[in-house]
Amino acid sequence: MGEITKYFHKDDIPWIQGIPIDLYMEDTLIWPFTPNGQYIVKSGYRVGREMNLNPTRCSNLTAVQSWWKMIWSLHLPPRMKLFGWRMCHNWLHAKTNLKHRGMDINTQCESCGRYDENLTHALWNCDKMKNIWKLLPWYKKISKLGEGSMFDVLQAVEQQVTRDEFEDTIKVLWAIWENRNRQWNQIPSMNGQQLLNWVFNAYPKASTVDLTAGQKKVDVYPNPKHWIPPDSGCICVNSDAAINENTAGVGLGFVWRTASGQLLSAGMVYMPSLCSVKMAEAWALLEALKKPPAIDTSQIAVQTDCKLLVEEIKTQGNILTAERNIIHKLNRVLETFNSVHIFHVKRTNNKCANLLARKCLADKTTQFFDNAFPDWLAKFCKADHPLVV
Ligand SMILES: [Zn+2]
Repeated sequence: MGEITKYFHKDDIPWIQGIPIDLYMEDTLIWPFTPNGQYIVKSGYRVGREMNLNPTRCSNLTAVQSWWKMIWSLHLPPRMKLFGWRMCHNWLHAKTNLKHRGMDINTQCESCGRYDENLTHALWNCDKMKNIWKLLPWYKKISKLGEGSMFDVLQAVEQQVTRDEFEDTIKVLWAIWENRNRQWNQIPSMNGQQLLNWVFNAYPKASTVDLTAGQKKVDVYPNPKHWIPPDSGCICVNSDAAINENTAGVGLGFVWRTASGQLLSAGMVYMPSLCSVKMAEAWALLEALKKPPAIDTSQIAVQTDCKLLVEEIKTQGNILTAERNIIHKLNRVLETFNSVHIFHVKRTNNKCANLLARKCLADKTTQFFDNAFPDWLAKFCKADHPLVV
């Protein structure tokens, strides 16, 4: 505490005390104002002196404390909470902040080219960012907000949305900032849908999917590196997709097997288009379900390594509007089966479908196998069969 009072303005102390200490255990703190990320005193002094450190402050300590208590209790990775904290303090290097620090730069927003890039513009008000926000199903609740600093915006958003939605808001803000920094560093950046897919895939909701009967199955095999067979009497379909980054071409693969691992049918579908990983995964599953094997399919297990896809199917695709169409189709096809259990499995549990998808992408061919199976396909099946060590 003595250390804090030595270095910080008294008004900032309650904010600083709002940071739980364990944050630093999980994440490496990087000083963003030197090229190698190493903090140097000169740089710290310069930033402190020149940056316009003017966080909006709550009028009383209790409000400050309860705000931070809420922020730190969110189900978010520490780096995102820390990002939230820095965002509230305007401690992020938006162009107008850099200009305040004396950097001689053009402060024009690189996304729209129309306005100065302050933090609220970069994350929220820029038309290009609005297009991202509009993809969220609950955007209408927050569409009118946008006055003042990001701290003001966040407080207003928090009043309007559920806790889940607020957590998603921070995730999206963080992803937008990451993407903006990619642009800044001339690394390929993502479009709105790709960005949402990326952040929601990488950081799924804390409230995990209800796997019902499937959960038992997963418990039996805590960490297998192979295919997880379904309950006996059930047949299982695994699907996967492979895409090349930044080049057109999507390889879809699927395989149907009995509980004992007997190969029933398999397929590869090549699409010469560009699409997001999740969209590709959805296509792969749709192709698989459209071509069930010619045996009793009244009980099926569906396995994919795309967790978000499983979640969206279970929530009837209400999460992201752009993919609702294909999720809707998937649900219609799933309804044609008597009993369906959908599982999210790890990549290592989905090897055969993964190999098929990758071969499909490499060969650029579409092929289906119902009766005769080539040797390489039998090898793919063996590759993840639980009985093969
Ligand atoms: Zn802009």
